[in-house]
Amino acid sequence: MSLSPVVPEKRPAEELNRAVILLGPPGAGKGTQAKKLAAKYAVPHLSTGDMLREHIAAGTELGAKAKPIMERGELVPDSLVLRIVADRIEKPDCSHGFVFDGFPRTVAQAHYLGELLKQHGFRRPIVIHLVVDTSLILRRITGRRMCKVGGEIYNIYERPPKVEGRCDNDGGELAQRPDDREEIVGPRLKAYEKQTEPLVAYYTRLGLLYDVDAAKSVEEVEQSVWKTLHLARGGH
Ligand SMILES: [Zn+2]
Repeated sequence: MSLSPVVPEKRPAEELNRAVILLGPPGAGKGTQAKKLAAKYAVPHLSTGDMLREHIAAGTELGAKAKPIMERGELVPDSLVLRIVADRIEKPDCSHGFVFDGFPRTVAQAHYLGELLKQHGFRRPIVIHLVVDTSLILRRITGRRMCKVGGEIYNIYERPPKVEGRCDNDGGELAQRPDDREEIVGPRLKAYEKQTEPLVAYYTRLGLLYDVDAAKSVEEVEQSVWKTLHLARGGH
């Protein structure tokens, strides 16, 4: 069984024609910016998590291999992730480029991706590094509270409710999701930093990495990402 990618009907005025890689810690808005960028250039937004889930849903051979590993909550091995990526970028909707979110994770994956892109005749990728202070991310995530009734999202530091612990709309109780607790988020951020340092060094050495300040609003970061990308492409 094969997957049927969505081919955009309308092409943008400016083609991307390459891979854009978004690097950034959890909570930096990587997924949001990747989606916006992909929409702007009418190219696919490729998240390895989504690709794996698509393979599982479509019952492909790769999906069958990934399923038990993911169900055990383990990390899918490089060999499988790389095959899924290689398979995906050959699809027709990837011919004008694509935006990666959450890939590559390691220097080995980055090296392999570089070779793969060369083989397919793409230019060198542009890596956008969303830089944001970890203490700010910690505040963003650990301050998040959700209404148990209507699902509204608050932040006790940045967007507190009028009455502590109660939703402004319906008075519902505000609760923290278990994954948003400091003892979960703190170690995740540390692990991310440790894992990403060599990747940042690798792409810096190749001259492909561009820092973007991601501590601002979603709209401001979006503008910076576009400007940076335009400059990185040399205006075309
Ligand atoms: Zn509510």
